[in-house]
Amino acid sequence: MGTILEQQLQSLNDELLIHQMTLDNIGAYIFMKDTEGRYTYANKLVRELFGCPLEDIVGHDDSQFFSLEHSNEIKENDRLVLTQGLTVEKEERNVIKNTGDVRYYWIVKKPLFDQQGNIIGLNGISTDITQQKRLQIELDRKQKLLDTVINNVDAYIYMKDNQRRFLFINEKTAQLFGTSAKSVVGKRSEDILPLEMAENFDILDNKIITSGQAVAGEELVTLDNGETKYYWTTKVPIKNEDGYVNSFIGFSSDITDLCNLRNDFEVKASTDELTQLANRRAFMTTCSKELARSKRNNQPISVMIFDIDFFKKVNDRYGHHVGDIVLSKLANVCKESVRASDLVARLGGEEFAVLLPETTLAQAMQTAEKLRSKIEGIEFTGSWNDVINITVSIGVTEVRPEQETIEKPLIRADRALYRAKNSGRNKALSEGLA
Ligand code: GH3
Ligand code: MG
Ligand code: MG
Repeated sequence: MGTILEQQLQSLNDELLIHQMTLDNIGAYIFMKDTEGRYTYANKLVRELFGCPLEDIVGHDDSQFFSLEHSNEIKENDRLVLTQGLTVEKEERNVIKNTGDVRYYWIVKKPLFDQQGNIIGLNGISTDITQQKRLQIELDRKQKLLDTVINNVDAYIYMKDNQRRFLFINEKTAQLFGTSAKSVVGKRSEDILPLEMAENFDILDNKIITSGQAVAGEELVTLDNGETKYYWTTKVPIKNEDGYVNSFIGFSSDITDLCNLRNDFEVKASTDELTQLANRRAFMTTCSKELARSKRNNQPISVMIFDIDFFKKVNDRYGHHVGDIVLSKLANVCKESVRASDLVARLGGEEFAVLLPETTLAQAMQTAEKLRSKIEGIEFTGSWNDVINITVSIGVTEVRPEQETIEKPLIRADRALYRAKNSGRNKALSEGLA
């Protein structure tokens, strides 16, 4: 049985042991230093980090354990605590001396005071945040990579929620919209763009939101200067676990040059080169459309075919080149002589056709007669130092949109034309419905 003093000493020792065990088993680095920065205590994690027992740590400063040239912050933070009595809470980057390992800590360093209020050292608690920090660095790196790609790729990239509100646009898109990338967040196309443009974007937006499937198609934008830009757009949905479309990402590339080429090509493919009139192909296509429209509106529609009389003689006398000029001048006269809604086409050679929507046979015959007499009166003059006159024979018929396609009426008009040729030329004849 010891004395009371011995018992008190024993219980103090026990308490100390408990404290030490607690400090050793806490998931943080705990240490104390004197005013010179020498360790006075280091818990188990610190001892393991330094790879030595407590007696080899106590009395030594950080130069023993850290590469101080790479860990300036340690000294600086300690200085703030020890000389200014400040509490420092921040991130510290340390390079461990014996391993060269780089570690990140969230440190809390507080001054220790004696009873007179003098600073006698510091205590510190550091939590290792290396893992989070490395993830953060990796994430930042990936973010930077993504930003670089998104802002330098030659495409318009944007993200919208399922209410069509912008979540993101890349720099290129911001430039196109004439706005900043940040300012569009939360807004819809119609809030920042001309209505026509916004409505064009809505088509694919609505399609992806309702279908939940990736969509692709053409979109177009008319710029302030009137220029039309075409884009090939792919929109990809981002869904939640239930398959519900939360948002979507759009990628658009400028295909204006390609579309202009295509449009030029389409125009070329449907235009007669010599006269710039519609060619046979375009005439047939337009006829089909007009027939369908007439059927819907229950409107009459007529067609005429005309052929130049004895055109061979013009070629024979003045040369093929002059014949070409006559054909081309005649085409202009015809175009000017009919209504804007009528379509004049060159079916081939010196044979032409006119489609007359919303026109009865009687009205079409009047137009044909007017045209015939006008052509008869034209004096074709030019470098050939002569006046060339031509006449045409015309066959006219009315179409029954509800019963026939364009082929039959063209045959009827052709027959009427043939009769006109055979009955003296320079006349317009019709073939009515059987
Ligand atoms: P008609 O129609 O009154 O019976 O007599 P035509 O002499 O006009 O008829 P034909 O079918 O015998 O000859 C049509 C002529 O049109 C043949 C060709 O020399 C001329 N022709 C056809 N296409 C062109 C063309 O592109 N340029 C020129 N210069 N002539 C053409
Ligand atoms: Mg002819
Ligand atoms: Mg002919």
